[in-house]
Amino acid sequence: MIIVIKPNTPREQVDEVIAEVTKLGYDPRPIYGTEQTVVAAIGDERTHHTLESLNVLPQVDQVLRVQKRYTMVSRESHPEDSVIDVDGVKVGGSNFCVMAGPCSVESEEQLLSTARAVKAAGATILRGGAYKPRTSPYEFQGLGKEGLRLLQLAKKETGLKIITEVLSERDVEHVAAAADVLQIGARNAQNFQLLIEAARSGKPILLKRGLSQKIEEWLLSAEYILAHGNPNVMLCERGIRTFETFTRNTLDLSAVAAAKMESHLPVIVDPSQGCGKANLVRMMCRGAVAMGADGLIVEVHPNPAEAMSDGQQQVDFRSFEALMKDIQPYLAITGKTA
Ligand code: PEP
Ligand code: MN
Repeated sequence: MIIVIKPNTPREQVDEVIAEVTKLGYDPRPIYGTEQTVVAAIGDERTHHTLESLNVLPQVDQVLRVQKRYTMVSRESHPEDSVIDVDGVKVGGSNFCVMAGPCSVESEEQLLSTARAVKAAGATILRGGAYKPRTSPYEFQGLGKEGLRLLQLAKKETGLKIITEVLSERDVEHVAAAADVLQIGARNAQNFQLLIEAARSGKPILLKRGLSQKIEEWLLSAEYILAHGNPNVMLCERGIRTFETFTRNTLDLSAVAAAKMESHLPVIVDPSQGCGKANLVRMMCRGAVAMGADGLIVEVHPNPAEAMSDGQQQVDFRSFEALMKDIQPYLAITGKTA
């Protein structure tokens, strides 16, 4: 870290800063200028006490970090793309993966017909929420364990792998027993105890970006999972809150590029939550594929007008099939194969 001392600070007060730096376990290297002094503090910022607390001293102008706060998720620590193995389905590197299915699991007929349709169109992982994080307590909360049973049934019939959301620490064990990938939702992106518990399940995890989570914070959430022994993390950009209300969220494709640059983890795009409008989903998919995302997670429903959650953003079977055809040329450009 670098501590910038205010101009014209007397030497004794610089020495006070140096003494604090030493006390906190760093090796201080002062550089005295004619007016201004800086103290470089040598030591690992991730394992030592942070020196940001020195901002409280009146002679300190600012404290600057030089190291990134995440290590295990960073590309520096792992230059190659990570490839996650979801029970035989590879995600990352040259492997493009499409996850698709309803927002919520509603019934056997709804889920199985969707599973068959998305499989026929080329998806390899079936999505469907059994536990739903709803803004209002009066809205459909999901079928819970019955939803998990239906997901297993769909897996048995189609061979599709299953991704479903885990909402609380309490549910990790039984959701992990039914799912191939645990989805951590946007609202739980910084629920650190849930991240730790999900990590311990050993299952691959799809980590959504929080509604107003900075890229650094999102990567630090992923770092929690890796730091707790689970390297199988997929980052998922699903749109952030902005001033815009025409779209439900603003799908932040710059975050996809940034996450790919900063981290070796696969990056998946969720265009459904990302823009919240069924008729925009196809275009958002093209963009995501063209810029090198490692996969898509798309909401598909037999009859979106009757959906029990997120009907406005779910595409029907025909639109999904068209979308899958539509992305092929973009996929070819990136050199990835689905
Ligand atoms: C979902 O995938 O249906 C969902 C609730 O996602 P998010 O957590 O991104 O809002
Ligand atoms: Mn949804």
